[in-house]
Amino acid sequence: MKIKDIIAQKPVTISLEVFPPKQWDKLSESKKTVEELLTFSPDFISVTYGAAGTTSGYTAEIAEDILRCGGVPLSHLTCVNSTKEKVRAVIADLKANGIENILALRGDIPKDAVGSPVGAFHYASELIELIKSEGEFCIGAACYPEKHPESADVESDIAKLKIKADAGADFLTTQMFFDNNLLFAFQDKCEKAGIHIPIIAGIMPITAVSQIGRSVSLSGCTIPKPFADLAASYAASPEDMRRAGIDYAITQIRGLLESGQKNIHIYTMNKPQITREVLKGIEDLL
Ligand code: FAD
Repeated sequence: MKIKDIIAQKPVTISLEVFPPKQWDKLSESKKTVEELLTFSPDFISVTYGAAGTTSGYTAEIAEDILRCGGVPLSHLTCVNSTKEKVRAVIADLKANGIENILALRGDIPKDAVGSPVGAFHYASELIELIKSEGEFCIGAACYPEKHPESADVESDIAKLKIKADAGADFLTTQMFFDNNLLFAFQDKCEKAGIHIPIIAGIMPITAVSQIGRSVSLSGCTIPKPFADLAASYAASPEDMRRAGIDYAITQIRGLLESGQKNIHIYTMNKPQITREVLKGIEDLL
């Protein structure tokens, strides 16, 4: 089923995420994660694509597994450092295996790249155009409430986001954010810029202090001071930090749903137990 139709039909959607292993001998673990995530009856499960196309074969395999088990997969696909032929081949494989939903991404530019962007594609909008020309896919794209790290400011980033929407993106999924007001302000700006496709709010439960530095440096998103202070105070207490992170994610999602946000994506990080606890904390709103 196409995600745009699920979003149109349901009052609230909850989606989860799985990332493929780096080595084939760990594939069965990822498939077990998928089986556990499916017991939560998510509206769809997204499957990430390894940086610069690594693990790409596993992405399709796991997406196909989700479909076989009765779930709805969203297969991520990046185009940086690739060729049109290679990308067309991946799209053809997804199509042949009944995958209808693709999250079209440029991907991070490899640190050792000479000149940028590299390869046959410059931006995700070009990948969206290619996917559209290859079949009747439902296409998602990424968006950034606090701007993409390469953009000068949110306004110029949204101007580029409009190009992705106009190229044919059916929905957007946000980068993680930890202050709901950032999403509300971003959505207002998108509306004013003429971007009217659904925006799925991406929520990352931060359950270990080490995740904070990593999340901020990779994504450029900010951690509100009260949560940063709380995390600092739990540096020596992993179990308290885990509980605080889950509670923070629950509070954030509850705030979003109570404010009328319809679509929530939980960055599951291959941790079904954490996802289970987050979902428990919002079950009365679903
Ligand atoms: P783009 O939309 O191309 O944007 C990249 C930059 O270029 C932005 O600054 C944008 O403003 C600018 N830009 C865009 N179009 C134009 C234009 N026409 N002219 C000038 N500037 C332009 N990475 C992975 O490797 N695998 C994954 O599975 C993965 N999943 C993700 C899922 C989500 C929900 C998100 C938010 C990110 C994900 N990423 C993933 C990370 C993503 O690949 C990086 O953030 C990457 O740097 C940008 O990808 P993009 O598709 O947003 O790029």
